Amino acid sequence: MVSAAFLFGIEVDFLISPYKGTFRVSQAYRNLRANGTYHQGYDLVGIGDKSIYCPVYGTVIRAGWECATLPKKGFGQRVVVRIGSTAYYMYFGHLSKINVAVGQKLKPGDLIGVEGSTGHSTGSHLHWEIRINDISTGYVSVHQYAGIPNVAGSTAYTSNWVAELFGPSNLKKSTSGFPQRLYNSVLQGALGIDKDGIFGANTEKTVKEFQSAHGLTADGIAGAKTKVALAKLF
Ligand SMILES: [Zn+2]
Repeated sequence: MVSAAFLFGIEVDFLISPYKGTFRVSQAYRNLRANGTYHQGYDLVGIGDKSIYCPVYGTVIRAGWECATLPKKGFGQRVVVRIGSTAYYMYFGHLSKINVAVGQKLKPGDLIGVEGSTGHSTGSHLHWEIRINDISTGYVSVHQYAGIPNVAGSTAYTSNWVAELFGPSNLKKSTSGFPQRLYNSVLQGALGIDKDGIFGANTEKTVKEFQSAHGLTADGIAGAKTKVALAKLF
């Protein structure tokens, strides 16, 4: 249910759920807290599976304790990912486990860690935030781009990774415009070719090769079956 967004430029301009299953919002972005400060991120709680997956293409800038001698401080165990080569930095706070290391390149779907309650936290959740220039005064409303309503409560949202990654329609030669370019670029990333978002002859040829190698009809059109096979690459 998470929608893609043109925000970060063609190499990274999409955002998918940090969970692969169901989750709910436990605290909204810009919620005014009892101490008079605003909540600058978005708190999510996984229902069942609490694994956290990378929603973007990026590089791990920090991974570990915010303050190793004060485990109840701040984000506790956190991961910070620079989105592509942009000035946007995505924060994942309060993790119970971290599966990535500084310098590691990530693609959508890579396992970052497991939700937890480390740092300044009273229950297991993910604090998900985007900062511009990696400074604590430049916040971006992550929910606006993630498409998840900014309302805390018990409503369960469910990821649909195949649609989130590749869109609801077939991807085929000469499809263009938003959001097809976006989905084309994700398709190209999965196939390991240049992510220019334009479904041309080379993309069609590569889709056919992928289909042949996976026992699918090699028609060069990324339809439902091809998308499911491609999603397994993430
Ligand atoms: Zn939070």
